[in-house]
Order: sequence, then C-alpha cells, then structure tokens
Amino acid sequence: MDWENVQADEYRKLPRNYTAGRQGRRITGITVHHMAGNLSIDGCYSLWSHSGTSAHYAVQADGRIGQMVDDADTAWACGNWEANLTTISVEHANNGSSPWTVGEAALDAGAHLVAALCRYYGLGRPEWMSNVFPHRHWSATACPGELYGSQKHEYIDRCKYWYDKMAGGSPSEPERSAPAPVPSPKTVVDEIRYCVRTEANGWLAEMVGLSDTGGSGDDYAGDGSPILYLAMDFPGWYQVRTEGQGWLPKVSRYDVGDLEDGCAGDGTPITGVRCYYETQDPDATGWKVIEYAVANVGGGFLSPMRDLSDTGGSGDDFAGNGGRVSAIRARVADA
Ligand SMILES: [Zn+2]
Repeated sequence: MDWENVQADEYRKLPRNYTAGRQGRRITGITVHHMAGNLSIDGCYSLWSHSGTSAHYAVQADGRIGQMVDDADTAWACGNWEANLTTISVEHANNGSSPWTVGEAALDAGAHLVAALCRYYGLGRPEWMSNVFPHRHWSATACPGELYGSQKHEYIDRCKYWYDKMAGGSPSEPERSAPAPVPSPKTVVDEIRYCVRTEANGWLAEMVGLSDTGGSGDDYAGDGSPILYLAMDFPGWYQVRTEGQGWLPKVSRYDVGDLEDGCAGDGTPITGVRCYYETQDPDATGWKVIEYAVANVGGGFLSPMRDLSDTGGSGDDFAGNGGRVSAIRARVADA
C-alpha cells in the first residue's frame, strides 16, 4: 500500500455497478462501511460485479486493501445519491457477526486509508460527521455495525493518529465545518439485506438480494432446516407467522443481536412471511416493491410475492402455505 499516493495493494476495476465520474461534484468526505461478513478482496470483486452495489475500497481481514472503483468515479454504496457523489466508500471485513465487529488489522488499515484519503484530498483531520461518515448517516441501514458503535472512538482515534503521523507533525489544516446534510434524490436503491437463523446452524451468512455473502453460491437464505428467526434490512417492514404464536408484530429494524426487536421470530418454526417495501423517493427511483418467496422443508419455492400481492394468484397476502419455511429469497424490484 502506497499511503502517500493512495495506491491500493490490489487494483481490480469493476466491470460495472458504478457510475463514471461524479457529475461535477467534489469529494468532501469518506463513508465507512462494514461488509456484514468476512469477505476477501476477491469476494468483494465477485459480489460487486453482479450485486448492483459497490464501494471504492475493500479492506480485508488481514488489512490488505483492494480498490475496485476509482476515486474519480461514483460507487453505489450509500443508498443516497448525494453521498455516493461526494464521498469515497471504504468497506471493512468483519471478524464477528453478533455484534458486527472489525478485527485489529482491518480496523488499523481502514483507518490508515481514511487518513491517507483525508490528507490526499485536503479534507482535514478525520472527524466523525465532519468528513468521515457512517453509512447509516445516509440511509436506513445497520452498516457499519460496531465501527460506529463500540469501536467508534477507537476507529476515529486511529484515523487521527495516522493523519497526524502522515502530516509529519506539520500543523493540521483548518477544520472544515460539517457539510449541511442536503436531502437529495436517490437514483439507486440499496439491495435488500437479510439473514436467517435456522434450527440446524444458527445465523447464516447475510444475503444481499440474491447473493450469499458467505460465498455458498446459493441465491437464497436457508440450510434445509426450519428457519426460526428472520432479520431484514430495507425501507419498510416485515412480519412472520410462527408455529408458536401465529402472526407476530411487524418489524422495521435489522439487528441479529436483538431477538426482541431487531428481527422477526419467537424461536419456533416460521410458517409465513409478509413484507412491504416503502419507496423513499418515487420521483427519483420510480416505485419499488420487495419481491420475495419461501420454500418449505423438503419443498421447492412457492410463487413469489410482490409486497402483499401473490403472483401465483392465491389471493393471500403472505408467502407460505402453512408448512415449515426452510428457505427465503428477496430482492428489490420495480413496482
Ligand atoms: Zn454500508
């Protein structure tokens, strides 16, 4: 890694899933992400080549850094077009999933990269919400997990340490005032993220749309055993029916560490799922729906739902036919 000139250890330009240029906008900050998984540079490259999302840099668990979108181009990372246009997105590999923590090597390398970028682009000394932003500042998401939770101070302190060190003791540039958060149209929506906890294996790797971040190659979440909890991240709500209690309350949060409010389920097998996507800015994106389907233990996928409509013509407003659900897949689609 050439920190002075911000040349990554590996440069692998994505074939698609970013926008060339920045529509005339200047880089004014860095957006910090976590992968919600432990992906390598290779893993990010293959995921971002087809997931409809991307970031400029990926920091893998050992601290090695890959660049996949040029700084001068716009990555599809923040679920907020203004943020995509004006910030550089850095993804960090996780070393834990409950909660989503980042290990020492990745944290240090990521912070060093943020410092190098702040210096290179004259953004000033790294400071949360001034020139360094957690993804969840820009859109409804749990990203970047503990990097903006229990590791928030450690992370920004490390950014400052490297920034000061790189500046060679020269006085820091004047602090910039925080850019006013301007609500702006999204033209790209985040793919749906979701996770299931199964009877056989506990929480499985996170899905992003139809891509398994665990690298299984499956286009659904599930391992063949009954699903006991479902956690989903998208604007809107989701709800499950269980053998134990029937329909449970709607959930809008995504936190696999919080079985009460961060996911749906009660520990007994799920037998039905209902989801509704709330389009945030229809003028910019057109109306969107969540398209989702479930399969029962030993069975194939039932006809997909689009929000509360069954495309199979059954007339019910949920996915499932009463059997124990063992797989689910979901993606965002045009209404
Ligand atoms: Zn993110």
